[in-house]
Amino acid sequence: MPELRRDPIHGRWVIISTERGRRPSDFVTEERRPIGGFCPLCEGNEDKTPPEIIAFRENGTPPNTPGWTLRVVPNKFPALRIEGELNREGEGIYDKMNGIGAHEVVIETPLHYETLATLPLKAVKNVLWAYRERMTDLRRDQRLRYVLVFKNHGVAAGASLEHSHSQIIALPIVPRRVAEEIEGAKNYFHYKERCVFCDIIRQEVQQKSRLIIENQAFLSIAPFASRFPFETWILPKTHYPSFEHMEPLLYEQAAQILSETLHRLRQVLNDPPYNYILHTSSFSELENDHYHWHFEIMPKLTKVAGFEWGTGFYINPTPPEEAAQYLREAR
Ligand code: ZN
Ligand code: ZN
Repeated sequence: MPELRRDPIHGRWVIISTERGRRPSDFVTEERRPIGGFCPLCEGNEDKTPPEIIAFRENGTPPNTPGWTLRVVPNKFPALRIEGELNREGEGIYDKMNGIGAHEVVIETPLHYETLATLPLKAVKNVLWAYRERMTDLRRDQRLRYVLVFKNHGVAAGASLEHSHSQIIALPIVPRRVAEEIEGAKNYFHYKERCVFCDIIRQEVQQKSRLIIENQAFLSIAPFASRFPFETWILPKTHYPSFEHMEPLLYEQAAQILSETLHRLRQVLNDPPYNYILHTSSFSELENDHYHWHFEIMPKLTKVAGFEWGTGFYINPTPPEEAAQYLREAR
């Protein structure tokens, strides 16, 4: 059983994954390991993944057989486990709990060489719709407090499979990064009686220097204090604390801007490895009315090194205004 442990100084939680049990020699080759060979996520290999939780099938084929356009399955090597009671306990000065949570994989396409940047709009919309369905379902689990959707694209970004997929992890705690963001938004709101994200959107639309693209309902920007070169955020123009509680009609436009933004990053940076995360409100949403969901896309172009680890500062060699200009001019 994996375990969650809290650092008593920072209050930061760590998942200690007992089952993965990597030995020193396992890490040496990791970065150099080529991805390739047999793919368990391809159509026809449904029996190589745990049974699907949901799938989109246009021709009504039975579960766990070919004929799907998207599948969501439990992660075969989960960081957290869904079964069991949540036990919180102390060990001397330390806090820990058992690793209850969900870890799922969204297989975004049956085709091995497609990516979110190349898939048709309808498929991207299906991906977002699958996030919504799973997030809505996981919210019902009383033991859980937060759900994070994320994507690792490319080996350097942590992907262990080449086939286009994203992951969903539901946690029994609100992670510190998210708690800090929610807290920051709350403080701003109490001070100005406005949402900080809504204010950012207003200013960026007007100022335009960091605006990448926009449609009726969304915009993508290079954030003012970008931590990484070509860091990109996508935000809904209307104030919604949670992704999964957004007006259903808006998912089409969300898919359009996500697809177009990823396409431009691919054009400008030659299919870079990247991570994206979907930041939505924690499950106690009524208290988080001041929060505003968004995507953060982080191309992996530089390595986080000593100075960053030691200070929490990031050194970004590309001004966001320049990054935005490259992406605006891309086709
Ligand atoms: Zn594949
Ligand atoms: Zn807002």
